[in-house]
Amino acid sequence: MQGVVVTHAHLDHFGMAGRIREASGAWASLHPLDNAIMSQFENGFATRIPGLMARAGAPAEVTEQLVKGTQAAVRRIPRPDVLIEDGGRPDIPGWDLRALWTPGHSPGRLCFWEPVNRLLLSGDHVLPSTVVGTPEPDESHPDPLGDHLRALARLRGLDAAEVLPAHEHRFTGLEARLAEIDAVHQGRLAEVLAGLRAGASTVWELADHVTWHRPFRNLRGVALQNAVTDTFGCLAALVATGTARVDDGAPARWRLADS
Ligand SMILES: [Zn+2]
Repeated sequence: MQGVVVTHAHLDHFGMAGRIREASGAWASLHPLDNAIMSQFENGFATRIPGLMARAGAPAEVTEQLVKGTQAAVRRIPRPDVLIEDGGRPDIPGWDLRALWTPGHSPGRLCFWEPVNRLLLSGDHVLPSTVVGTPEPDESHPDPLGDHLRALARLRGLDAAEVLPAHEHRFTGLEARLAEIDAVHQGRLAEVLAGLRAGASTVWELADHVTWHRPFRNLRGVALQNAVTDTFGCLAALVATGTARVDDGAPARWRLADS
């Protein structure tokens, strides 16, 4: 084997890279911005949960539960040998792949376009039935949902014959799927906006106004954490467009910019 082209740093994608490299001598690649978040996995997320949940306005017992169930620190995660940026063409004999930087779900997430057979290797960006979430906004990645929506729009008109995602199954109909995913996020943005209009102001209150796969109060574990980070993402996107503003704190409180 020569190389392993990886779409993003999440451990269900890049986690085996080190073992594959050891066993085969293959190089492994990532976008530089995803290489930069590897240390987050090594530190684990348990230490970040209390701050995140306090800012969200979550009850203390929920935070405690979540910390208990959170992925522990992972030691010695391999680093990529090759960094690929937007437009990069990895050296894979017989294949002409072009990297498309599609940030959102992670800051350096890549899709790959194969123009001869018109194949899109979509990673987690476009899956046939799941709509992936976005991480909590931070200084280095302040508007993940806005980035994600722009990265979906970027794939419009690509004329893909088939999409090869990193989960679920290969599928046709990229254009229709892009529109469906966009509609899910626009729906959540509208629900968060309606929540703000109704007087909800914290992430914990606003997430209850959003349609998740089950009611917010019934979500636990990773599903709950994803709903919280997605609500943060909606609010960051509304702040980025000047629709909402935030008074930071624990909890942070959002309101409509014109109220
Ligand atoms: Zn992922």
